[in-house]
Amino acid sequence: MAIATINPATGETLRTFEPIGDGEVDRRVALAASAFRDYRTVDFKQRAAWMHAAAGLLRAERDRVTRLVTTEMGKTLAAARCEVDMCVREMRFFADHSEEFLADASVDGPAVGARQAYARYQPLGPVLGVMPWNFPLWQVIRFAAPALMAGNVCLLKHAPNVPQTALHLDGLFARAGFPGGCVQVLLIEPEQVEPLLRDRRVVAATLTGSEAAGRSIAAVAGWEIKKTVLELGGSDPYVVMPSADLGEAAAVGVTSRVQNNGQSCFAAKRFIVHDEVYDDFAGLFVALMESLRLGDPADEATDVGPLATRRGRDHVESQVANAAGCGARVLCGGVSPDMPGWFYEPTVITGVTPEMRVFHEEVFGPVAALYRVADIDEAIALANATPFGLGAAAWTDDVAERERLVSEIEAGMVYVNGMVSAYPQLPFGGVKNSGYGRELSAYGIREFCNAKTVWIG
Ligand code: NAP
Repeated sequence: MAIATINPATGETLRTFEPIGDGEVDRRVALAASAFRDYRTVDFKQRAAWMHAAAGLLRAERDRVTRLVTTEMGKTLAAARCEVDMCVREMRFFADHSEEFLADASVDGPAVGARQAYARYQPLGPVLGVMPWNFPLWQVIRFAAPALMAGNVCLLKHAPNVPQTALHLDGLFARAGFPGGCVQVLLIEPEQVEPLLRDRRVVAATLTGSEAAGRSIAAVAGWEIKKTVLELGGSDPYVVMPSADLGEAAAVGVTSRVQNNGQSCFAAKRFIVHDEVYDDFAGLFVALMESLRLGDPADEATDVGPLATRRGRDHVESQVANAAGCGARVLCGGVSPDMPGWFYEPTVITGVTPEMRVFHEEVFGPVAALYRVADIDEAIALANATPFGLGAAAWTDDVAERERLVSEIEAGMVYVNGMVSAYPQLPFGGVKNSGYGRELSAYGIREFCNAKTVWIG
């Protein structure tokens, strides 16, 4: 895909960008390596001051950035505003807590034959972030804010359809006072990623994106023996048991499914509902999905905007067509409306079986699959019947059920009586094909650190 801003609500190409050449990539990597040599010695107080300044700038530019994100990838203005606010909160959180997260971790010295022993967290160097378009600010900040606070420097290869958002972030850190070379956005083509990752000056990588991209990055980084964190796709279960507040479970479930126009890795995608409450839940859920207003994401009254790319919309369309062709029932939606742009109607399907693609694949659009189960055993088995393991939500007021759902669902995150979300205080990440490693919290900031053992006799 060319590097370009194409408005998904109209299909119009607004601006195109030339990728930088290999010589320029080399110059930028050299700059990152030299910036790291100085930046690693900057103390936490100074790093935090720059990070707070960057957060303040982003907050001040909220309206402009919100419109840019909406124009480039089609999320509603409300969603884009919320994304800016999440970024600001995260930057402030890591500005305030990184020193504490990375303080020397002492152990009992005499127990290891030492006068004193501890782990010291030290930065690794230039880290490459390969990022997707769906949360074009948040994904970058989620990686960059802790990486910078730990003393690393960042190289960013963003998705080709959000170049202006990417460049805005590049400028943001420099304007906030971070030394040149600490955060660099590289507008490059897909084939330029591998040599960059193999470059000995790039010491680690993090990728948020599809399974295929994750495999490709991990294979190269594995050969080069470089640390990686992978945040990949998800097909999160949303389990509803009889003791749940059905009205709230349905409303929150709809929000979770259609947030970001249905393009969120941690959205609830498979709704697994106990037989006793299935019909009531399905009635509430379908009515709410039908009531959503699909339209121009720049209109404040819109609930669901277009999908970000034509390819993405066509993919969702083909997944639903495959399910319908194999016998699934479409309870609402199921079509791309006849209008410009890459819209897809909020859709609910039921009667999904393992022969259908949607049973195993991630559906990256506003499509919910409803499943009826007889008991909690079946609910847990179905929740785990996926290659993914990112998040899971479970609705129940029964303590014993809650304990089983929390401990037996195979996922990196379980939210009870709520929807999976991201908070800087909590670790974020998955298991199985959803990836490995964690972002956010003390766990996230330590991923790109050398936990150096120090033993003093
Ligand atoms: P994608 O196609 O994998 O692209 C993500 C990034 O990886 C882009 O910058 C892309 O750039 C690059 N890329 C793709 N293939 C590559 C390869 N073989 N080698 C190196 N780089 C490569 O993903 P997407 O479709 O844009 O994003 C949606 C996916 O991201 C979904 O599966 C979603 O669940 C996942 N996601 C996960 C999380 C999480 O935290 N777990 C968060 C958000 C999204 P090019 O297009 O230029 O190649």
